[in-house]
Amino acid sequence: MSNSPRTAIVIGGGVVGSACALRLAGAGVAVTLVDDAPAQRPASWGNAGHIAVEQVEPIASWATLRSAPRRHFARGGALDLPAAAIGAWLPFGLRLAAAATRFEAGKAALTRLMAGAMPAWRRLATDVGDAALLREEGHFILWETAATAVAGRAAWAATDTGNATIRDATAAELEALRGAMGAPFAGAVRCEGSAQIADQTRLADALAGALARAGVVRRSGQAMLVQHGDRVTVAAGGERLDADVVLAAAGIGSAALLGGIGVRVPLIAERGYHIEAPTSGAMLPPRVFEDRSMIVTRFGNRLRAASFVEFSRADLPPDPRKWARLQAHVADLGLAFEGEATPWYGSRPTLPDYLPAIGRVTGTANLAAAFGHNHLGLTLSAVTGEIVAAMLVGDTAPDPAFALSRF
Ligand SMILES: Cc1cc2nc3c(=O)[nH]c(=O)nc-3n(C[C@H](O)[C@H](O)[C@H](O)COP(=O)(O)OP(=O)(O)OC[C@H]3O[C@@H](n4cnc5c(N)ncnc54)[C@H](O)[C@@H]3O)c2cc1C
Repeated sequence: MSNSPRTAIVIGGGVVGSACALRLAGAGVAVTLVDDAPAQRPASWGNAGHIAVEQVEPIASWATLRSAPRRHFARGGALDLPAAAIGAWLPFGLRLAAAATRFEAGKAALTRLMAGAMPAWRRLATDVGDAALLREEGHFILWETAATAVAGRAAWAATDTGNATIRDATAAELEALRGAMGAPFAGAVRCEGSAQIADQTRLADALAGALARAGVVRRSGQAMLVQHGDRVTVAAGGERLDADVVLAAAGIGSAALLGGIGVRVPLIAERGYHIEAPTSGAMLPPRVFEDRSMIVTRFGNRLRAASFVEFSRADLPPDPRKWARLQAHVADLGLAFEGEATPWYGSRPTLPDYLPAIGRVTGTANLAAAFGHNHLGLTLSAVTGEIVAAMLVGDTAPDPAFALSRF
């Protein structure tokens, strides 16, 4: 792979691919961005908007595995393992269990990566011309019973939160939280150091505008990799595209993309759901209702409630029971959802160790990867863009913990 590419093709126009394309263009590379623009908006625009720098502990852990039975959807929890997708989640689960034995190494790697996440987001928000997109106001975690409040506080006290800190909510904060919901709650803490994206639509528009100003050429269509010896080209929209470097940043689509040239990637579609409705309620930072594994975020004049980890396949139909469950949570809590709620579902691109794949693809001369950001793709998109540009243009090797060859 050339150390100083003149041209690049980025496959995937989600938040990760867009951030990478922008940083490559900023480093003087002529970038073509290929996206298949699906009717169903991908995870990048349906997520909870939380810049979750407190999440430096990978989800691939014994604690996650131990808690799985009580978190099952059938028992009121957020975890679902649909029978139709057993061929996907069973092998993934075994790999997750193996990865849990490497939890400490994963945590160290994620902590290093996360340390750069917020500074990179400040730069990205400024560079796309909308610094106010990043609201650095932390977030709240609430519990509904005295017992879960005690257990939840203890769990957070025992959790490494990187550069973020957690403290009790103040009397004024508790008052504001009470004013924004109809139901009582038993306790709340505030995380400081985390943030949110103020508005997903504004983010998408700002990124698109910045990409256009940077001269990034957009192409619509589903991309396929074509191998020629150790090099790849890209087939998209009936055309063959060639470039010094090709970056696979296609979220869950990255598995099929790399599979096309015989590179097997153990990605799973970890699907989540949201409902969203207009609101005139209070402007509060994101609220995590931990007893319900649900996060509620305000974007502009809309309120979004998101939840669920459904280990599945991206091509299976959605499960409407999840939207009904979200509606019930919103009603129980008396949240200010005003008017009809819009439903959405989408796939987190998740690798078994819950670390992303960022690096060159072994065995190829011009292919690199930036995918697999699981629950943290929004949080880590800006720093991933910088790492990819430093790798491809500055020849700065990324952290080997994120090499795709670990699988
Ligand atoms: C309910 C929910 C809540 C979440 N909340 C948060 C949160 O609060 N904070 C956080 O940090 N993360 C959150 N996430 C995770 C985050 O949304 C994802 O990690 C992130 O969006 C992944 O971005 P991406 O660009 O890699 O992939 P995607 O958003 O999936 O984008 C990939 C793009 O590539 C395109 N594509 C795929 N294959 C091809 C192909 N062959 N050719 C051309 N184009 C292709 C797709 O159409 C898509 O446009 C959440 C996810 C969900 C589902």
